[in-house]
Amino acid sequence: MSRLVVVTGGTRGIGAAVAARLRAAGDEVVAVGRSECDVTDEDAVAAFFAGLGPVDVLVNNAGISTSAPLARTRLADWEAQLAVNATGAFLCTRAVLPGMSERDSGRIVTVASVAGRVGFRYTSGYTASKHAAVGLMRAVAAEVAGTGVTSNAVCPGYVRTDMTDQTVRRIEERTGRDGEAALAAMSPLGRLLEPDEVAFAVAFLAAPEAGAVNGQTLVLDGGGVQ
Ligand code: NDP
Repeated sequence: MSRLVVVTGGTRGIGAAVAARLRAAGDEVVAVGRSECDVTDEDAVAAFFAGLGPVDVLVNNAGISTSAPLARTRLADWEAQLAVNATGAFLCTRAVLPGMSERDSGRIVTVASVAGRVGFRYTSGYTASKHAAVGLMRAVAAEVAGTGVTSNAVCPGYVRTDMTDQTVRRIEERTGRDGEAALAAMSPLGRLLEPDEVAFAVAFLAAPEAGAVNGQTLVLDGGGVQ
């Protein structure tokens, strides 16, 4: 039976790959960017979900990142990352959870990051926001434990997307080194992930057969973060 899937930040990168994979598997996928559903806007999120039928799968994927040493991290950048990466996941989860609980069926998958499991330098706002997203995911998992609803997260390392392109360019401008090679060297995997590798992990956690998996962080980094 076709499920209704919502992928926030689904216009490009990881979100677009998730949407393509789940569509190919037969799901009805609504993949939206900021203009259709700005996840930081409480009213916009409420209106967006009110216009949909019962949501079977929510993929909290919308995200932004900036990078700076803590002492040079601007309050606006800190707040913007918390707003999209953590509060956005909260607002979208809050919009779908009552319906899922009522139907005793649903999957919530949050695209967090390895930065949701460990601290990386020069990413205090991003790391804090992703830890918050993982904390939210775990709190929701505790609430739905023993029901037909699950809440889990994927935690990828660097993925070949626009977001990573920006990081690559920043490294190259600042150091003159090959940015992609520098990122690959930081990962036990030794290369960037491809968006569809993340989509595969999301599809696993979103599968009807994954009902026993709840409150987990599935780390995709080739073996560094335990
Ligand atoms: P991209 O920068 O390629 O795409 C970001 C997506 O998020 C776009 O669809 C964008 O929409 C959307 N978005 C941004 N702000 C908002 C907002 N306020 N409301 C709704 N949508 C918004 O990112 P990635 O595909 O790389 O990242 C997707 C997720 O994966 C993020 O949560 C990111 O933190 C996480 N991640 C990424 C990694 C990487 O290396 N790239 C590694 C680990 C995790 P629009 O097109 O409208 O701007």
